Amino acid sequence: MKIRSIFKQKYKLMVNNTKEIILFFQRNGLITDCNEAAKDILEYGDDIMKANISDIFRDVVRLKDNGLIIDSSFNNMTNETTAYKLDQTSICVELKIILIEKHKRLIGLCIASDITLQKKLIGKVKHVRNDMKRLLKLRDIAVNNIIHELRTPVSRIMCMAEIILDAELNSKQSDNINIIYQNCKCMNALINDLFDNVRIKNNKLILKEKKFNTYLMIDKVIRFYRYNIEKKHLKLIVNISEDIPVYLIGDEFRLTQIIDNLLSNAIKFTHDGEIKLNVSMNANNSHKVVLLFTVIDTGIGIDVQDKDKIFMSYYQADGSITRSYGGVGLGLSICRMLVKAMGGRISVESTKGKGSAFSFTVSLKKATAYNEELLKATIFKDTSDSIAMTKEYDYSIKENYSNMPIKDKTILEMLKAAIEKEDWQYAEQLALRERELITPEDKIITNKMLQLLFSIRKEERELSIKRVEELYEIKNMHP
Ligand code: ADP
Repeated sequence: MKIRSIFKQKYKLMVNNTKEIILFFQRNGLITDCNEAAKDILEYGDDIMKANISDIFRDVVRLKDNGLIIDSSFNNMTNETTAYKLDQTSICVELKIILIEKHKRLIGLCIASDITLQKKLIGKVKHVRNDMKRLLKLRDIAVNNIIHELRTPVSRIMCMAEIILDAELNSKQSDNINIIYQNCKCMNALINDLFDNVRIKNNKLILKEKKFNTYLMIDKVIRFYRYNIEKKHLKLIVNISEDIPVYLIGDEFRLTQIIDNLLSNAIKFTHDGEIKLNVSMNANNSHKVVLLFTVIDTGIGIDVQDKDKIFMSYYQADGSITRSYGGVGLGLSICRMLVKAMGGRISVESTKGKGSAFSFTVSLKKATAYNEELLKATIFKDTSDSIAMTKEYDYSIKENYSNMPIKDKTILEMLKAAIEKEDWQYAEQLALRERELITPEDKIITNKMLQLLFSIRKEERELSIKRVEELYEIKNMHP
């Protein structure tokens, strides 16, 4: 007797201190027992003992011929439904119904949790998420419109600056026009980033697969940053695995864009120490290779919490610091999307204050070397010796600088030959390549280069040859 009463007390204590609605009912649905939460939440008070569960859970339980028809999806299983209070207002609940037959008596048990608040919050989150999506879409449309509005004037100004530079100007005038031209170039780069971001997000990026010279591509990128690295007194070490094929098929322009972005960030965020570019083979089969590129720097590093976020559009880790370095937080998100499109992955390892290592893989098709492109092969031999033939090459500027003019002259010689043959397309390619090798601060050469490009584009044979010779002469004077 005593044990029974202790048990009863324990049972009451338990059911009355739970937040769930607990209702016992009999065969005809009448409630026989319940806990305090049921009385409170359903607002019946003690009158709940006169209620029928078919009144409370009317979407799940129905009375028929004095018996109950219960939706089987609630039998021993928890599901969502509505519970009706005494005043017929309703709440959302998760309900489970358990039926036990004992001595021909049915004991029914309903356990229900009030999830109204939870549902409301989920609804609100969904609403906010939809609003966010709508806003992001609007932002993309606005950015797209701005890009289109900016593109034309900026490229017109650039064109006009080129035309003016083509005229005979005094050095003050050409300095000023050059400033306009260089600033337009910066704006153009930003416009291109914004344009790429929208285009890739809308799946409008088409990768242009072509055969390219791997070593030449890397060499070109490195040479492009040579001046900035020298200016910051940094050391650049390039390490290219010897098993990497010379010719591969892929989108060279986009691959260059990724390496460009990582290298320019490494230079931007490093004040002293070194920058390493490692290229190795991650996988290799008969028709394709997976290359692994790693750019390691000894710069400001990235906080752990920013590691993944920096790959999101417009995100800059520690805005207050990084904003002073310029940029709009698009480069890495574009890299991520490009790497994905090329079947690879990008990631970063970093220690705040010590440096960062950005790695990415890309899948590229194999190609056979083509001898007929002797001219291009000459560039390869000429420019890549230094990085391709050694396992690890210290690309410190001083060591290589002495070689540079000779190599540049070789390109100029090829350029002259292309102009003489009136192979304008190739001549423009060579001229663009030559332009990349020029130190931006070297205004006389930069201006001459622009004039040369302009005459090539106009396909003016004699003028173009004259410009090449002038450039040749200036270079001889400024080795
Ligand atoms: P941004 O044009 O602002 O550099 P990115 O998308 O290239 O845009 O980079 C996003 C942010 O990631 C940068 O603003 C910077 O905070 C961080 N970041 C990128 N590269 C490096 C690096 N090598 N070292 C330190 N921080 C970096």
